[in-house]
Amino acid sequence: MRKQALISVSDKTGVVDFARALAGLGYHILSTGGTAKLLEKEGVACQEVADYTGFPEMLDGRVKTLNPKIHAGILARRPVAEHMAALEAHAIDPIDLVVVNLYPFEQTVAKPDCTFEDAVENIDIGGPTMIRAAAKNHESVAVVVDPADYDAVLAEIRAEGAVTPATRLALAKKVFAHTARYDGMIANYLTSLTPEGERGLFPETFNRQWVKVQDMRYGENPHQQAAFYREVNVAPGLLAGYEQLQGKELSYNNIADSDAAWECCRSFAEPCCVIIKHANPCGVAIGADVAEAYAKAFQTDSKSAFGGIIAFNREVSGACAEMVAKQFAEVIIAPAFSAEALAVFGAKKNLRLLTVALGGAQNDFDFKRVGGGLLVQTPDNQLCGADALRCVTEKQPTEGQIQDMLFAWNVARFVKSNTIVYVRDGMTLGVGAGQMSRVDSARIAAIKAEEAGLSLEGSVAASDAFFPFRDGLDVVVDAGASAVIQPGGSIRDDEVIAAANERGIAMVFTGERHFRH
Ligand code: 5GP
Repeated sequence: MRKQALISVSDKTGVVDFARALAGLGYHILSTGGTAKLLEKEGVACQEVADYTGFPEMLDGRVKTLNPKIHAGILARRPVAEHMAALEAHAIDPIDLVVVNLYPFEQTVAKPDCTFEDAVENIDIGGPTMIRAAAKNHESVAVVVDPADYDAVLAEIRAEGAVTPATRLALAKKVFAHTARYDGMIANYLTSLTPEGERGLFPETFNRQWVKVQDMRYGENPHQQAAFYREVNVAPGLLAGYEQLQGKELSYNNIADSDAAWECCRSFAEPCCVIIKHANPCGVAIGADVAEAYAKAFQTDSKSAFGGIIAFNREVSGACAEMVAKQFAEVIIAPAFSAEALAVFGAKKNLRLLTVALGGAQNDFDFKRVGGGLLVQTPDNQLCGADALRCVTEKQPTEGQIQDMLFAWNVARFVKSNTIVYVRDGMTLGVGAGQMSRVDSARIAAIKAEEAGLSLEGSVAASDAFFPFRDGLDVVVDAGASAVIQPGGSIRDDEVIAAANERGIAMVFTGERHFRH
């Protein structure tokens, strides 16, 4: 049986040479109006689809290839005798190769003067239908959507007599990525239209994975525009699943900081309070209840706590609310608020109260936009326990120090690098965040503790990454820390361990690092 290729392309790059080579290899070529005209002009023999199906192209090209003679020819499974018999009964020739690229929707809507009608007419219907059919039937059919693949496909047909199964599967994967992106662009375009038909900046659905919750008054700064999206398959417990009980609309920075507060707070098993300023914790504590946890967390840095975002991982009691209400806060987040707490906060009309269900999944990926690209990683959700700690000093940590070190280690995960966190009795005493030198983070955290009137004598210190030299460790010990938790792994670990022994402190290595940028 003769081999048959269907060629229907909007982007005609390279198609003449490709078709000519296929014809030379014995392929019978079927083609749509514009493509057929070009091939004929260039002297490549082909048959128009309209001639083959007996149906003219109609409705301004909306219906060209949507015909059982085409789709049965693509979808028939060659190893299945009944499928082949059905083709024969209806005088349909199997199609072995589908070469299609789609109407240029993206380029069309990118034009500043694109009208709604232009956009709609550039939604390809027959093309995606053919390539999806061919990709589904990759067991029998090869499908090429990218002119860059023409040469490799030709070379393979010449060498192997046909496109190999591995290549057919690879080409099929490319198709579904292509059609998913294509439909995503259509959805982005259509949902960005305002009721008046104007183009808005932020579509209702974003790449079909995110649904808009709200447009925001502005972004990180007033000259930036912004919107907030939640994932389509949002897992319970994520910030996107929050309920706002009262207060002003959440701003861009409110949401970013609330997320930081909530993720940190919900990572502790004990009653916990986290106060966030500009994405960094300025106080974290655990306690017998939320009131105690808040009192401790606030004490860490009561100056910075002004205008903070506060998260709790237990219901907020009336007693706790009375204490919190004394300070100015932007947002308070908790799994629940008691009736008494609601009454206390109710007097502060602007204060935003959010409830978020505890538990639930975490984001599967973290994203960071870089110029012209995207960095994607799994979240930093690994945290070592007491069993993983390796004491590297002569001095062993006490049980109490181990508990405080593990607490400090978890807090350090949520602080921008370079991070030094001093802790005693389940509360932060000083947080050094976001410095370009670890030594400076250690100094700043100590200064802040002193300003807050908190002694660092007998505290533990956590460092999110190893000390590259002994100087950082010396600052920490000078400040009063008697035990240190850090990943280890520096080429100068020996120097740092010797310093710890010389200074008479205990030091443990975790073997895991928690950079946060
Ligand atoms: P041509 O330039 O050959 O006339 O048209 C090629 C384009 O038509 C290709 O982009 C192909 O995806 C598209 N196409 C093929 N069949 C159909 C159809 O039945 N309906 C629509 N809307 N587009 C089709």
